[in-house]
Amino acid sequence: MEEQEKIYDVVVIGAGPGGMTAALYASRSNLKTLVLERGVPGGELINTAEVENYPGFDSIMGPELADKMYKSSMRFGAEHAYGDVKRIVVDGEYRLVQTNKKSFRTKSVVIATGSYHRKLNVPGEDQYNGRGVSYCAVCDGAFFRNKQLAVIGGGDSAVEEGTYLTQFADVNIVHRRDELRAQKILQDRAFKNERVSFTWDNVVEEINGDDKKVTGVTLRNVETGEVTTKAVDGVFIYVGILPQTDAFLDLGITDQEGWVVTNELMETSVPGIFAVGDVRQKTLRQVTTAVGDGGEAGNRVFHYVEEWNERTEQVVVEN
Ligand code: FAD
Ligand code: NAP
Repeated sequence: MEEQEKIYDVVVIGAGPGGMTAALYASRSNLKTLVLERGVPGGELINTAEVENYPGFDSIMGPELADKMYKSSMRFGAEHAYGDVKRIVVDGEYRLVQTNKKSFRTKSVVIATGSYHRKLNVPGEDQYNGRGVSYCAVCDGAFFRNKQLAVIGGGDSAVEEGTYLTQFADVNIVHRRDELRAQKILQDRAFKNERVSFTWDNVVEEINGDDKKVTGVTLRNVETGEVTTKAVDGVFIYVGILPQTDAFLDLGITDQEGWVVTNELMETSVPGIFAVGDVRQKTLRQVTTAVGDGGEAGNRVFHYVEEWNERTEQVVVEN
């Protein structure tokens, strides 16, 4: 006998803080819930050193918070499977979530795919990736004990992760303006730290190295045009984030930059497809806001599935 296809109430795409919270709320409401994740559960928390603006913890390392969130989110029976989602197809009342290996049939979907780091796109960046070029202080910082580092960017990530790196190395933050974008508390901390210095009004022209690893950066002053080189052992790049939405562009639910547009209930313009966390068009991208979105979506999905069940039962009765 042919095995009957499993139908989920909700498939959550991405196991970062937003997706994990949506799964917690949905599974706790007894919805048949599947979380598809293409990497390690935790999302950006895995790449974050210290989190000190998540209530309940004065300070906690990102990977530890990720582990706690994962365990508590999955305890009401949500399933977790590996899956790199390539597409969502609308099939009548169902939504098909397709990876390159499998298709999952579901009544609703929560997109929680977050963002990815923007690259500098300068010579040497790809060549020395993993050989001095890094996008993750918590992963790679310890390789640079007593070394000289350049950290590129002026936002929260550059300043916070740059300060974190001073437990290992001397850090020069290279920013393209003369004023940081980062939160004031992070700025103050960096300005007070003797191991942090700044190079203002400069952009990276090239990341230099020998046949093994990074040896320095070539910088250009955007005010004077002056080109200089700086000897460093590593370059940590934090120049912003881009939406992880390639798989959903054909649904017409994204804005011009690719962020998913939702209303306050986390509903997109396609019924049964919700989005939460960093992947949304929003002003504040934080763990707290991703978690808040996840709760809202999990709750909204419950009502959507209730209505879905009533609607489709009605069709069966009428036929
Ligand atoms: P993410 O955490 O990005 O998770 C998305 C998940 O989806 C990932 O696991 C990814 O693998 C998965 N995924 C993506 N595409 C697919 C696909 N096609 N198929 C399957 N899975 C997919 N916020 C704070 O509040 N405090 C901090 O101290 C802080 N520090 C930060 C430090 C850094 C360096 C960075 C980059 C961010 C920091 N943030 C911080 C922001 C915070 O990490 C994010 O706001 C939060 O993680 C967003 O959660 P999310 O669930 O929306 O997305
Ligand atoms: P971001 O806020 O977009 O900052 C990116 C920085 O890189 C800006 O300073 C920008 O310069 C600079 N930049 C952009 N393109 C550049 C280029 N091509 N060359 C040189 N510099 C370039 O990104 P982020 O710092 O990664 O933060 C992403 C999100 O995560 C934000 O919402 C942030 O609040 C959140 N986050 C929060 C925390 C926390 O709460 N503790 C920590 C980390 C991240 P300009 O300033 O000139 O634009």
